[in-house]
Amino acid sequence: MPVSRFDQRVLNWFDEFGRKHLPWQQNPTAYRVWVSEIMLQQTQVTTVIPYYERFMASFPSVQALADAPIDAVLAHWSGLGYYARARNLHKCAVMVVQEHGGEFPKDLEGMQALPGIGRSTAGAILSLSQGIAQPILDGNVKRVLARHQAVAGWPGQASVLNELWALSEDVTPNERCGPFNQAMMDLGATLCTRSKPQCERCPLAEDCKGLATGDPTQFPGKKPRKDKPVKSTIMLLVKNDAGETLLQRRPPTGIWGGLWSLPEADEGAASEHLSKHWGASLMRFRHTFSHYHLDIDVREVHHAHSSPAGIGETSDCVWWDNEQELPGGVAAPVAKILTATSGDLL
Ligand code: SF4
Repeated sequence: MPVSRFDQRVLNWFDEFGRKHLPWQQNPTAYRVWVSEIMLQQTQVTTVIPYYERFMASFPSVQALADAPIDAVLAHWSGLGYYARARNLHKCAVMVVQEHGGEFPKDLEGMQALPGIGRSTAGAILSLSQGIAQPILDGNVKRVLARHQAVAGWPGQASVLNELWALSEDVTPNERCGPFNQAMMDLGATLCTRSKPQCERCPLAEDCKGLATGDPTQFPGKKPRKDKPVKSTIMLLVKNDAGETLLQRRPPTGIWGGLWSLPEADEGAASEHLSKHWGASLMRFRHTFSHYHLDIDVREVHHAHSSPAGIGETSDCVWWDNEQELPGGVAAPVAKILTATSGDLL
């Protein structure tokens, strides 16, 4: 038996299981749907509900919102995070009042010209408040469509996003577009969840290509991991006649700010003049920061005098006797070098 149409299955599911009692589904004007869509952008439904109700009690219309001082709007947003959303909301309300006579535009283009409203939010407001047939593609819908059609790419990539928009356009019906869009968001939020989709209860399971692979959670593809860049440095283990090691305090900002370290020479500065004093490499290892790898090559340099002018006698540059305590904190890789070259640290 052929599978019934995608939109019919979704709508039948919605009629039976979809959410129909959310506050913004009652009297769904463009204003009320718009506020809910912006609040829901980064926040879960259950968190949004009390904020939404307080917001609507204080600002029941786009006019009331436009007239309110921005501080009052931000106070109602306090705790929801991502405050740029609240600023845009206020800016948008002022625009709707001043440029559109207090009515939201009824077309996609006009809607998208307002601050903080992208294509998917515009589609949601038009379809949910006025039944205008427009596809949507929020995070939940992206996941459902990517799994249903086994779209392997990462939606942050333009080509993958375009593919998902085309799929959304394809399945979105002209009739009952509002309930359909609501149902798609509900499906993604309640059944086709990120890590544990409940495919056995899903109306799309019959022809879901993601499910057919045995692991629908691999769709959509994840953001590709960027390889960390590799930097390199030469650390100089400068020893004097007394066997002391030269330590230098790093500048207060930058990596290992304010910690004691070994003098460094990058390869560019490895001039003949300097390098002829270096011995062979004592040790080489890689230290990994959050944003890059640092390959460290340690060379020993002998310095004949214990206290020559200009070296080892300022507060940021000392000769350290390994029988003594360290002058202060040292970065982990430097501790590793000192341990390896002078026995246990004190
Ligand atoms: S069958 Fe499973 S993976 Fe496919 S859309 Fe439904 S819940 Fe998602």
